[in-house]
Amino acid sequence: MVRYFLFCFCACAGLSLNAQVFSSLDELADQEKQAWIRSLQHAQNRDFQNSADNRSDIHYCRLHWTVDPAVRYIAGEVMTVFEPTESVTSLDFDFSEALSMDSVVYHGQKLLFLRSGNILTVQFQSALPAFLPDSLTFYYQGIPTSTGFGSFEVNNHDGTPILWTLSEPYGAMEWWPCKQALNDKIDSVDVFVTHPVGYRAASNGILRSEIQSGNQLTAHWKHRFPIPAYLIAIAVTNYSVFSVPAVFENDTTHIVNYVYPEKLADAQVGIGENVEVMLLFNQLFGQYPFHSEKYGHAQFGWGGGMEHQTMSFVGNFGYELLAHELAHQWFGDMITCGSWEDIWLNEGFATYLTGLCFNYLRPQYWNIFKADRISKSTAQPDGSVWVDDTTSVARVFNSRLSYAKGAMLLHMLRWKMGDDAFYQAIRNYLNDPTLVLGYARTKDLKAHLEAVYGQNLDAFFADWFYGQGYPSYDIKWSKTPDNQVKIIMGQTPSHPSVSFFEMPVAVKLKNDLQDTLIVVDHTFSGQEFSFQLGFTPTELVFDPDLWLVSRNNLVQEVLATGEPLPEVSIDILPNPAHQQFIVRLKTTDNLELRLSLWAADGKLVHTEQVSVMPGMNELPVTVGALPAGRYAVRLENQLWQVERPILLH
Ligand SMILES: [Zn+2]
Repeated sequence: MVRYFLFCFCACAGLSLNAQVFSSLDELADQEKQAWIRSLQHAQNRDFQNSADNRSDIHYCRLHWTVDPAVRYIAGEVMTVFEPTESVTSLDFDFSEALSMDSVVYHGQKLLFLRSGNILTVQFQSALPAFLPDSLTFYYQGIPTSTGFGSFEVNNHDGTPILWTLSEPYGAMEWWPCKQALNDKIDSVDVFVTHPVGYRAASNGILRSEIQSGNQLTAHWKHRFPIPAYLIAIAVTNYSVFSVPAVFENDTTHIVNYVYPEKLADAQVGIGENVEVMLLFNQLFGQYPFHSEKYGHAQFGWGGGMEHQTMSFVGNFGYELLAHELAHQWFGDMITCGSWEDIWLNEGFATYLTGLCFNYLRPQYWNIFKADRISKSTAQPDGSVWVDDTTSVARVFNSRLSYAKGAMLLHMLRWKMGDDAFYQAIRNYLNDPTLVLGYARTKDLKAHLEAVYGQNLDAFFADWFYGQGYPSYDIKWSKTPDNQVKIIMGQTPSHPSVSFFEMPVAVKLKNDLQDTLIVVDHTFSGQEFSFQLGFTPTELVFDPDLWLVSRNNLVQEVLATGEPLPEVSIDILPNPAHQQFIVRLKTTDNLELRLSLWAADGKLVHTEQVSVMPGMNELPVTVGALPAGRYAVRLENQLWQVERPILLH
């Protein structure tokens, strides 16, 4: 993991901006996975869903940290306003055993507390009543643990120290006492960071002040939106700061950026391109949720990114990386997955939204994006988007399933429902007052999709969310001389958990001059479809616009009887020709054929019967004086037909 990450980071640093349009999906996923692996080592087998107890609702935290980027050390004062949801005599908080708790102060008095591993239990002198807001303050210090890319890291850029945090999902407790479970957002926070002068501190929300006292500077960041512990972060170094306006419907969101001075030019280009992405997401999904405060980026010592609320931390300024982290502000931050089983509500959406940037803003990359995610999703025959084992870090942040297949699940919903219904349902989900600024499960999204679509999506989710694998299509198609086309569509699922993937399927029928797109509702393997075309197709293209997750598809033209086409190869010599030419035809069969010549206006100008034998046949054709121009030579029998162009002069 480490070597892979370092390789990516160095490689990205050396690439041109153009080459940074795409961030490797593995890179994004693996980097997000790092946080899990590290934090798992501290999780001490506690339930992944839950850590500190749920008997209180956290309303507010006033977080004051004193740090120096040159030193791995933190001193903290955390005032927490909480409301017991039942009468309690004690409360548990997540807090790393590596840190020292100096005191816990309640109404001016020190409380007793117990430490057990990474749980800190505060003991009140008498029972606190339910539903009465109260507060306590923690005073602590120490050297935060770090086992890799850190919940709390100090390192260097260009010789200058930098300190940064990345808590997802269990790292917050490594540097402050908190509640890490995915069921209670802190309603608002104030963050104070005191650090030596010469540095600047980036964090969530709005910068209210930077006040110098001696050789120390204290930055005050204020954030008035609900936030889970893992999305609170700080970064401190000798940042250059600049702001870019994103104007949407007469409202300006400031994109405030804390970047390394030596990367300022790169940052200005990359973040400049992020404005169009924010405007696109605003149009598709409603205005950026924290526009009354700000959006921003803080550069940190990682190749990837982390979607800290209102202030994404990024290692570079690649187009896709910045789009991914911005997308998380709607999907992951404003609405957070309520269980790690549903991580695709964060990562599938963020991945798909980067695709939508290509779809609408940079269409030259759209098919590449889809083909890559389809290929990734189907790289193995098994695996569901639903996380069946949340104790497995690798499984939760699996780039194939939670990122690529999660994104394509959304793409297939869009295909099935149509753009209008799909986007309306997603907007309804984002506006649901029971979900906004809180947590959601997959069933919550599904209910919104069904309400707009007007149909039950149980089967779809059974196949594509809970089910594993993907379909392989086997398509046999035939045409008659009067252009009746028949398709027999077979399907084999890659995994026994799904017996059949019911999906609308698009095929394109085409020849050199025209084409038509046909969509069929595929409900069972071996299903037949017939239709009349106004032209003679020479080719069938399966799923030409890449709507489906599928692999190993077979498309075969057959005779109307279902038998294989005769194997023939045809050349016309010379071409262009004058009055006569030779049709050179190689086949493995005995065939009686009609050979005809057709003018560009569709008029038959010559016809004759020919017999061919297995092997190479040379058929001389004399057509006499015809107007110069483009013609078609057609060879056909009752079941089969082929055309070749010829120019006469
Ligand atoms: Zn992500």
